[in-house]
Amino acid sequence: MDDLAPYAVADTASRGRAVVEPRPKVRSEFQRDRDRIVHSTAFRRLEYKTQVFVNHEGDLFRTRLTHSIEVAQIARSIARALYLNDDLVEAIALAHDLGHTPFGHAGQDALNECMQTHGGFEHNLQSLRIVDRLEERYGAFDGLNLMFETREGILKHCSPARARELGELGRRFLDGRRPSLEAQICNLADEIAYNNHDVDDGLRSGLLTIEQLESVTLFARHAAEADTEFPHLPGRRRVHETIRRMIDAQVTDLLAESARRIAAAAPASLADVHAAPAMIAFTDSMQAENRALKGFLREHLYQHYQVLRMTTKARRTIHDLFNAFVADPRLLPPQYQDMAAKESLERATADYIAGMTDRYAIREHRRLYSVSEN
Ligand code: MG
Repeated sequence: MDDLAPYAVADTASRGRAVVEPRPKVRSEFQRDRDRIVHSTAFRRLEYKTQVFVNHEGDLFRTRLTHSIEVAQIARSIARALYLNDDLVEAIALAHDLGHTPFGHAGQDALNECMQTHGGFEHNLQSLRIVDRLEERYGAFDGLNLMFETREGILKHCSPARARELGELGRRFLDGRRPSLEAQICNLADEIAYNNHDVDDGLRSGLLTIEQLESVTLFARHAAEADTEFPHLPGRRRVHETIRRMIDAQVTDLLAESARRIAAAAPASLADVHAAPAMIAFTDSMQAENRALKGFLREHLYQHYQVLRMTTKARRTIHDLFNAFVADPRLLPPQYQDMAAKESLERATADYIAGMTDRYAIREHRRLYSVSEN
């Protein structure tokens, strides 16, 4: 931590916490943030929330928890290599998906539909809402009272209307300023992690085939490299040897391009980072290959009929849950009835549903709609 670049986020340069606290004795401020995130209830729930596959579909698929750990690991490697604050990067990465609903993107889209005339629902804003308000663990404040830069990194995107409501934290979206390099790293580490693990999970599930993937340059190029080094590798091993090369190539490309941009922009301070265009980036050619991989995954995995069947059911489940609670708020657990009185019934319902794990949502749906369950 002593060899941080002058434009990294440092404890001493931080804009601090909303509620002032004594400095930690043995940890850095951002280590403390990471620890608070790891101890939170929302973090533990990530284990039972999914990205693409629903939690009960198989034990080997990524969950939001393992995804977040992969993002943190990739992001920390990048941060260290660039002399940036890897404690901050770890905190942001571990918190970035806290606000996700059950059932992955289908769940978030459905909840957003339900909330359309009540301010909408966005998982990214929900992650912030969790760390700022919803976690109830401390005597002196609601939420986790995280450092400004951790919260800034969690809030990846935001509409101008919402940005205005968020005050200081939202200001950069209105002024067109960039977040810290640490936040920029987490953004792209997220992309590297999910593109690669979705290939892995897609193959494991049998929804994707190697033959299909050979049409994706990024995959084909690295499969060929693996074949050169290890001819005749059996299936799973060949897949791993390919994917680990893909991750390595993406990280290496990102490091080289980012180092080049940082050298060119020569920021002297964090303020320079905020004012300059994004410096953490892939080369154009890697960016194009990534786009092709994403397009492939969208077409062949996320739109696969078996995935669509699951997401259709997920959507229906979320709508049913929402409708039941809004029709009769007395069905909500007491703490959410309190929240409804403080904010709105719809927002409290969205908080409750968003906090559910996949299997809890399925069970709660059964409890509400089946007379033989209680
Ligand atoms: Mg993510």
